[in-house]
Amino acid sequence: MVGQPLNALEEGVGRIVASLQKDPSALESVYISVIAFAGKASVISPLTEIATFYTPRLPIGGGTELGAALEVLMHEIDTKIVPQTKSQKGDWRPIVFLITDGEPTSPLELSIKQWQEHYAKRATLVAIGLGHGTNYAVLEQLTPHVLAYEGSSDEDFRKFVDWISASVKSESQKVEHTHSVMELINLSKHDTLKKVEQPQRFVEPNTITLTGRCQTTKRPYLIKYLRAVTVTLLQKYDKDERFYLDGIFPISEDYFNWSKPNASKEVKASALQGIPSCPHCGATTAVASCQCGKIMCIKGEGEAKCPWCDRVLSFEYGEGDFTIQRGEG
Ligand SMILES: [Zn+2]
Ligand SMILES: [Zn+2]
Repeated sequence: MVGQPLNALEEGVGRIVASLQKDPSALESVYISVIAFAGKASVISPLTEIATFYTPRLPIGGGTELGAALEVLMHEIDTKIVPQTKSQKGDWRPIVFLITDGEPTSPLELSIKQWQEHYAKRATLVAIGLGHGTNYAVLEQLTPHVLAYEGSSDEDFRKFVDWISASVKSESQKVEHTHSVMELINLSKHDTLKKVEQPQRFVEPNTITLTGRCQTTKRPYLIKYLRAVTVTLLQKYDKDERFYLDGIFPISEDYFNWSKPNASKEVKASALQGIPSCPHCGATTAVASCQCGKIMCIKGEGEAKCPWCDRVLSFEYGEGDFTIQRGEG
């Protein structure tokens, strides 16, 4: 996740926390943990009582390692949740909101099987897809509670986030610690959150991300392209695919810590429509390709030094096509 959705989600977590911190029953009983996943998965906020919870910054990274996220989640449930026994009351059953916008970048059948066999009965998992890049078929293997967020405005997103807060509050007011997911889902009174009833066949990834570095400052950036969606029956995707520029985002070195290593997919330069300028130095072309396979910004024709491998290259504009290394969206 990158750009606007990620910023919205980060604000969303802050809004949920602020709302729960004002609620007396939530203050007494709610604990929150945040697990982030991109090319890697990690606990970024350990399970903490709501009163002292501090909203984390969500990392940006290449990849959608949902399997790794499940492994982390299962480990957290094993080590942090006090089980109910005859002699101890134990913690309430955890609610997990899984929010994703992508296509998992590694097989995760084993993690799904492990979840279903040992954890599905101990936690309530509500999976929410943001946008058309979501692979709902995978989410449906994990849980019967799959929702698609279909809002578009900031106001829609706030309603969605408030629905999460309201679900948690209503749970914290109950005496029993069983909860009905149907109740949670029925709390959603707005039409931007739809229950996914039918397994949907996922067609192809809809985004391409490229990471580049500024030649002048050496700082990294991320370029995102979206697949052109055309509804032509005769369309042959592999021969005629086009991706349109969605945006370019400055990123920090931390991006590489959160990205899946050795991602080696490629894309033809001619499939990419629209060349952004560098977000760090303003150079006109942020998609120049070095012989090392990496991407850099250039100010025009002539010599330039690759910020990745230090080769000195001579650039000229031409008609020829070339392949570019792409990341895992
Ligand atoms: Zn630059
Ligand atoms: Zn290079």
